[in-house]
Amino acid sequence: MVLLALAVCRVLHVSEDSRGHHPEVLKEVPTEKLQSALSITAPLEQRCAFPHYWSEGTAFTCPPIQDFDVFKESKDKNFFESQESIDALCTHLKQLRPAKDLSENELKDECFRLLQISLWGNKCDLSLSGGESSSQRTSVMDSLEGLKPFILINDSEALWALLNGCKKTAKTPAVRVDIVLDNSGFELVTDLVLADFLLSFELATEIHFHGKTIPWFVSDVTVRDFSWTIEHVKSSNQKSTATCGADWENHVKMGRWIYHDHLFWTLPHPYCAMPQVAPDLYAELQKACLVIFKGDLNYRKLMSDRKWAFTTPFRQALSGFHPAPLCSIRTLKAELQVGLQPGQAEQLSASDPHWLTTGKYGIFQFDGPLPTCPFVNTIQPKLA
Ligand SMILES: [Mg+2]
Repeated sequence: MVLLALAVCRVLHVSEDSRGHHPEVLKEVPTEKLQSALSITAPLEQRCAFPHYWSEGTAFTCPPIQDFDVFKESKDKNFFESQESIDALCTHLKQLRPAKDLSENELKDECFRLLQISLWGNKCDLSLSGGESSSQRTSVMDSLEGLKPFILINDSEALWALLNGCKKTAKTPAVRVDIVLDNSGFELVTDLVLADFLLSFELATEIHFHGKTIPWFVSDVTVRDFSWTIEHVKSSNQKSTATCGADWENHVKMGRWIYHDHLFWTLPHPYCAMPQVAPDLYAELQKACLVIFKGDLNYRKLMSDRKWAFTTPFRQALSGFHPAPLCSIRTLKAELQVGLQPGQAEQLSASDPHWLTTGKYGIFQFDGPLPTCPFVNTIQPKLA
């Protein structure tokens, strides 16, 4: 049965390109038809449905395999092979001076550093290598400066203004940041480090993580991966790493870190359909000060998986999806991108024909508070 599952999943993945991306998914949509262009396309729908057939079928017929995750071994291997980078990251986190000893600019610089690490952590996506190892073997912290030119859209100043503004203007003691996760392995550790930083430096009081209910796209985080990662960080022989793991376990125990999963994340609907399809999830996200969407598939679903013009404003392509201020943090692995400056895409195409799909480029793309927010003018990034 297990061999059969492996065979079926292998077949499923060879039907896609090496990035888990079906070449026919994107549809050209004229700008004037944007509002009618909201239905997700068939290939993504089929791709999203398969794991459910598998999960539901095996749950009924063969309970021991119900929780079988065909990518578990690869995900765990990615974690172990990235151990040196994980240790460096945890050591860095533990060496930071307390919040009270940092100026606002120092705090902002550190926030940007950890945001960039979380961005480039998204490069370690197993789907880029067709399931082969793509662990982080070199210290990403040493590479950040050199990677800056590859950030095509950088709204991190606006993101910072929001986080700082939430802290200062929150009407309740709770400042909540939600992270819609992408990949397990090194990327998840970078997300946990960022989450720890936001709590420790009082930029947030609660972090809510959103993972998948079932093993889904290659390396996606499930609750098992979330707990397994914290447990293995805690069990490290390296002191800083083990301390981070113990802190993270404590965050979970004390309810400062909350893990959610919801079936909607593994359904084919574009996120603009969330208020109708999953109103409970939408209401949950509305409680956040900021929602961070990690990775490429979240971006595709935020964009309704449509091939918008490269210069389309981000807010327009979100098609009304705005539970809270949100930010996409992704390296580009699928052939869609909005919010670029006129001529930017053409320049990139001329210098690097594969710029959209190699994971070499990244974005921090932010959609700030709606105009009713009192400090909107200070934090909404320019609309391209
Ligand atoms: Mg993924």
